[in-house]
Amino acid sequence: MITVLNVDGHKLTPCLLHRAWREVDRARAVWIDEQTIRLLYNPFLFRDCRKAALKRDQYTCLWCGRPATTVDHIVPSSKGGSDLPRNLLASCMECNTKRGNRAAFSYLIGKVFSVPNLIKLCYRIMKAKYSAS
Ligand SMILES: [Zn+2]
Repeated sequence: MITVLNVDGHKLTPCLLHRAWREVDRARAVWIDEQTIRLLYNPFLFRDCRKAALKRDQYTCLWCGRPATTVDHIVPSSKGGSDLPRNLLASCMECNTKRGNRAAFSYLIGKVFSVPNLIKLCYRIMKAKYSAS
């Protein structure tokens, strides 16, 4: 098990190695030593923001219109995107995985004719990009 430290250095519930790597890969945590990672975000705040974003988007994936269970960062965390609701889109697991770390606009170009609400999605992306941190 890997020890997980919060932003402020407090210990959280330990996690498995592959989860620790995933957090580090997503630029959401850094290794302190072989057994310890420190998170670069507040998981409790993120949980609330995630809930707020899903509720705002009526639990519907903005990319495809199917039920959403995850949130997609418009500006990826690895590029400094925040965990605030304005940077999050409700997304189904499939769209979230497919997009990966691609920029929201370039991903959107391939889907222009299939997204359920293009105007809304464009507006969200613009807002997140230009009001960003
Ligand atoms: Zn989807």
